Amino acid sequence: MQGYTIKLTNIFGTLFRHHYPVANLLRILVVACWLPGMIGLGIVVFADYREERQRLLNDNMQRARALGHAIDGHILRAQSLVQSFAIADEILSGDVKNFSKRASRAIAGAGLRGHILVYRFENGRSLLYSSKDDRFVAESIDSAAARLVFERGTSVISDLTIDPDSGHAFVNAHVPVILHGKVTYSAAIAIPTTELTAELLAQGLPVGWLVGLTDRKGIIAGRSRDSDKHVGRPASPQLRAAVLKSDVGTLETITREGIANLTAFSRSPRTGYTTSIGVPQAELIGPLRMKLASLISTFALVFGLALLLARYMSKRIANSVQALIKPAIALGQGTPIAFDRLHLAEANEVAAAIGRAAELLTQRDRALRAQQEALQQFHFFTENANDILLVLEEAGQIRYANRMASRRLGYGNAELLGMEIFQIDKAATPKLFGRLFEYSRSNQITPFEREYTCNDGSVFPVEINATVLEHSGEWLMYVAPRDISERVQAEQAVRWAATHDAMTGLANRACLRECLLTLLSAEHCILDSGALLYIDLDRFKPVNDVYGHEVGDRVLLEVSQRIQALMRQTDLLARVGGDEFIALLGYRDDGGRHAADTARSLIDAVSAPIKLGKIEVKLSASIGISRFPEHGDSADVLIHAADLAMLQAKHDGRNGYGFYAPEMDKQAQFAIQVERRLQQALDHGALALHFQPIVNLESGAVDGVEALVRLEDGIEPQLGPAAFIPVAEMCGLIAPLGEWVALEACRQQGRWRDAGVHLQVSVNVSALQFQRADFMPQIRKLIAVSGINPHWLVVELTETAVMENMAEAVQILSELKKIGIRIALDDFGTGYSSLSVLPNLPIDKLKIDQSFVRRIDTDHASRAVIDAVIALANSLELELVAEGIETESALRYLRERGCQLGQGYYFSRPLPQVALEEWVEKRNAQVADDNRCSS
Ligand code: C2E
Ligand code: MG
Ligand code: MG
Repeated sequence: MQGYTIKLTNIFGTLFRHHYPVANLLRILVVACWLPGMIGLGIVVFADYREERQRLLNDNMQRARALGHAIDGHILRAQSLVQSFAIADEILSGDVKNFSKRASRAIAGAGLRGHILVYRFENGRSLLYSSKDDRFVAESIDSAAARLVFERGTSVISDLTIDPDSGHAFVNAHVPVILHGKVTYSAAIAIPTTELTAELLAQGLPVGWLVGLTDRKGIIAGRSRDSDKHVGRPASPQLRAAVLKSDVGTLETITREGIANLTAFSRSPRTGYTTSIGVPQAELIGPLRMKLASLISTFALVFGLALLLARYMSKRIANSVQALIKPAIALGQGTPIAFDRLHLAEANEVAAAIGRAAELLTQRDRALRAQQEALQQFHFFTENANDILLVLEEAGQIRYANRMASRRLGYGNAELLGMEIFQIDKAATPKLFGRLFEYSRSNQITPFEREYTCNDGSVFPVEINATVLEHSGEWLMYVAPRDISERVQAEQAVRWAATHDAMTGLANRACLRECLLTLLSAEHCILDSGALLYIDLDRFKPVNDVYGHEVGDRVLLEVSQRIQALMRQTDLLARVGGDEFIALLGYRDDGGRHAADTARSLIDAVSAPIKLGKIEVKLSASIGISRFPEHGDSADVLIHAADLAMLQAKHDGRNGYGFYAPEMDKQAQFAIQVERRLQQALDHGALALHFQPIVNLESGAVDGVEALVRLEDGIEPQLGPAAFIPVAEMCGLIAPLGEWVALEACRQQGRWRDAGVHLQVSVNVSALQFQRADFMPQIRKLIAVSGINPHWLVVELTETAVMENMAEAVQILSELKKIGIRIALDDFGTGYSSLSVLPNLPIDKLKIDQSFVRRIDTDHASRAVIDAVIALANSLELELVAEGIETESALRYLRERGCQLGQGYYFSRPLPQVALEEWVEKRNAQVADDNRCSS
């Protein structure tokens, strides 16, 4: 391209250098500059003329309309005067003469000219009232308008009418006279056209202009010039043709005098008469000619001056060149050099200017080179940058993408340049992007995160820094997205750690709450119902204590996997405590059947033996179920409800499940109050011991007492141990309470011993107390502190406490026995009743549960159980105590069957220390008396 330009320049250069001297070229230049100006001005003047012409025609159209209004006004004013008399009595009573007189007077009074005409129709003929004859005669003029009045019953303005007698021209304005609902007469005023011509002249339009009035047929009814000569004759053919064709318009006409006019006309819709204004064309072209003449002379002058100046300038420029050429030729020929001072100075100026230009060009070249270098540098760095760099157009089109963008996104550079950002940032939409672009024009945007999709479909997160700048009049967005995959992964890892249990990999409580919140919130509520299963492992603690935490963890992992295996994909399992899990089940409401089925399967799965090498562990689970939305609509409420249900399930004997019930809340409330009372009683010494005697059924002598704790804090309602012991067990107060009871009972035994009363004291020990790792050390400490002889102490344990962890229980019981403490199995018959293991237990006594004893008289089955237990105790050589003896018959039955010991209200209720001592004294005295009598 550049080559062609150089060639073309050379050709022109050669052409002009050889054929046209510089001076001629300059002259051509001047003419070339002048010609377009001249043509342009000509066009301007012509356009000006057209505009002026159109403006005049428009103005005249308006004027013609205004004139039409004036004519309308004149005619209609006269018509309305006649109208006002058309309802007068005279004409209604047929007195046409008086009507004509009165109307004529009124017209004259109003400053109008004209006379009255009255038409009537008879036998198809139109009759006209003539004042000369004072009667109707056959009409001679304007019957057409009168006929229309009779036909239509409306007012009518006639076309131009000529009175044949006088030869005068009139315009008649008719109005109907209606009598008995019928047009009887047509009354009219004949307006002389001279009046209308006067109206035309009154507008004061320029003298040369022609103002005219024509009727519907194009007959002249008024004229500003020579009206008496032309009224009644047709208007010029052009005007007639135009008037017949349309209501308004402009046209070129030749007047009846033969003058070329520019005419504008307008027809009145009210009277049908057309007013026209004609302006002689000569009047319009005259000023234009003047304008053109002055323009042409001005240009001629300017052209002449320009030519002179061109000639002068060309000479000066040529001189400068000559001044350089001449010395060069002389130098070449070896002739002396003659310098023209002036020319030399000009040549110097030209040379200096050329030198300056050359210098400027060099500077510019240098600046351009520097700019180019900077650009190359910038391009090098952006191309080789480690981050993706993109330049985007306002519509999202990718204008520039660096090498890293191609590499990371997996597209070729050319491919990227044909793409839109939405193909990479899939979540972005043209609307959103447009808004961001618009906002960024005037604001700095803080970096934001998106996801970019690569050619292979993989996705990676980016942090985007975007700036919108204007460059060369175009707004572009410079985008620097930074790959933040590593950071996001790290964040995800931290988040995972914060929401999961590291050991099992299950969700933790926080994660569960979050999921539950999301599930319960209105917008995410996909399922209409669901359930929370609070799973607590029974007897897990001993696993930790016996086998150590490592085994404990492996057991938990196994359990968690077993539970997880039963979960569906939509369920969530969380570990919320050491051996506590919560399963979140979502399902369509089926009355909790699915939750119950799952709970059953979970219990079965957990109860299957867990084998870890040589160790085999057997666990069970208690599960509490809360359902939503039935039991609550918040995470905390539902978790709490499931927790309560789980505690209830545990309380009901473990290894089972139960649904939350609102009463559990009341129980929980109650438990809180009881806990508070127990804590205060422990702190302020409001606990007491009562003692219930245990009697030898054969001899009636007192064998010992059972220490039973009492809460004597004076607060209503009074609570017995059956109510507060389970609470103490739940809230962890059973340990200090049990300690207090045991110590107090041992001390009392010591005091009785010192007083010479030998009573064996039985102390109830809760399963939780018994299962504590420090149980044996506590017992040893108790013996040491109280100084009691262990043989006088009986520990009462429930079946459950012993059976839950047999191996350990046996070990502890053996240690107790070794010390000399005696052991009784309390409430026998209500717990596991695993009779097969009974022979292996190192126990001394069985206490038949009072529920059987109480029903001795009434229930055959209870009696059967009692008989069996008596037989069992005998065969195992265990002492047997019957609890709850209330009646003589019960006592007799038991005694007859060989039960040795008994306690119950029949003998005595549990009594405070002093009362008991009195009772024992009395009892001993009675037994002594009985013995004395029998001997
Ligand atoms: P338990 O160990 O079976 O004690 C016997 C319960 O039966 C006592 O109730 C006693 O008053 C009641 N009783 C005795 N004879 C009769 C009778 O003829 N008819 C009726 N209806 N009841 C009779 P108490 O004192 O209310 O104790 C209830 C349970 O609370 C005890 O049952 C025991 O399991 C527990 N308990 C009491 N004191 C303690 C304690 O200091 N520590 C622990 N861990 N538990 C205790
Ligand atoms: Mg007991
Ligand atoms: Mg009992």
